[in-house]
Amino acid sequence: MASTPRPQSRPTSGAEQIKATSVTSRARQVRPAAEGWDQARTPEGRPLLQFKQPRVTQPPKHWADMTQDERVAKVKELGLPAFRAKQLNTHYFTHYTSDPADMTDLPKERREELVAELFPPLLTEVKRLETDNGDTIKFLWRLFDGALVESVLMRYPGRITLCVSSQCGCGMNCPFCATGQAGLTRNMSTAEIVDQVVAANRAIARGELRGSKRAEGDPAERVTNIVFMGMGEPLANYKRVMAALRTYVEPQPNGLGMSARNITVSTVGLVPAIRKLAEEDLPVTFALSLHAPDDELRDDLIPVNDRWKVDEALDAAYEYYEKTGRRVSIEYALIKDMNDHGWRADLLARKLNARGRGWVHVNPIPLNPTPGSIWTASEKDVTAEFIDRLESAGIPATLRDTRGEEIDGACGQLAATE
Ligand code: SF4
Repeated sequence: MASTPRPQSRPTSGAEQIKATSVTSRARQVRPAAEGWDQARTPEGRPLLQFKQPRVTQPPKHWADMTQDERVAKVKELGLPAFRAKQLNTHYFTHYTSDPADMTDLPKERREELVAELFPPLLTEVKRLETDNGDTIKFLWRLFDGALVESVLMRYPGRITLCVSSQCGCGMNCPFCATGQAGLTRNMSTAEIVDQVVAANRAIARGELRGSKRAEGDPAERVTNIVFMGMGEPLANYKRVMAALRTYVEPQPNGLGMSARNITVSTVGLVPAIRKLAEEDLPVTFALSLHAPDDELRDDLIPVNDRWKVDEALDAAYEYYEKTGRRVSIEYALIKDMNDHGWRADLLARKLNARGRGWVHVNPIPLNPTPGSIWTASEKDVTAEFIDRLESAGIPATLRDTRGEEIDGACGQLAATE
């Protein structure tokens, strides 16, 4: 059942800071509620959270599921010398191919059999949508068990970003999110998470992502940045996501040779997992999808807030900064009349400043507009004031691009359907 909008009680903190002349202080309060679908609930009436996947069959083991030692052991088990593992790595991680016809340095009579054994097909392209003159592509993939997931490839000046999925569906049940509606089907395997990047690199190598300004002699283009903002809560699939991250940053040919700094792991706030991530020797960019600085609103907006409150999530984010030295991003979708009030910008700034200076950056994101819905983008002047209030308090804030909204590929819009 969708939650009934209820009147907002006057906030006890932050409200005193409302500027008499502000635009945002005049805004009304709208409460979060799922529209057009029923939010799964516990017997107590709270949105259901699913941390564990149901019992399901996992995809067949793939080369990208294995560590380098396991790969060497595997080729030996198949009666081949160890150096074949390096050749197979080069095909997959450097040339982005698992086509036996491309593997001309392997014994001809074994190629088909090796590929069938080591590179079972994981992602089958079902549909591809292009927008922004062809420099954004949304891929819809069917997995071995029929589950559908998406990834979105975006060209920006000087970088190519891939938004990847980490779970089939999601168990976090956020009322604004298309992905959350269906619940969690299963965790994606490490290789399924890696193969999204390999497939995107293959598409780029074939010239399928338009808008290239590459001159002759420039290095070949490939995905430079990864954001875990597709389907799923990456920290709820911790082990497999960590293994995929290690493969992303492992130098070629054994991995994709990417920079950890260019990889953003985003979470709605699974506090124990954030602490664990800080202990990994992986200086990825960490993003907390906060969307509200007060528990009263965030409890409804991000149901996992029931488990870990705003202050706990911010403490864990600050600890991430302290441990890694990497500045943390706070993602804040600006939703008209729901979370875009001036006092909320002030409260957010106060909470961030209370933990220190220079450790955090806020990315307000205008929600993708759904006219007539309670989930719609903040007005331009409200957005500007929200950012202005953060910056006046010394918090750097950058309005994020909502690339891909025409093809429902922006955050919170990924609900894979054919
Ligand atoms: S917003 Fe993110 S965490 Fe929430 S349901 Fe959607 S995919 Fe899951």
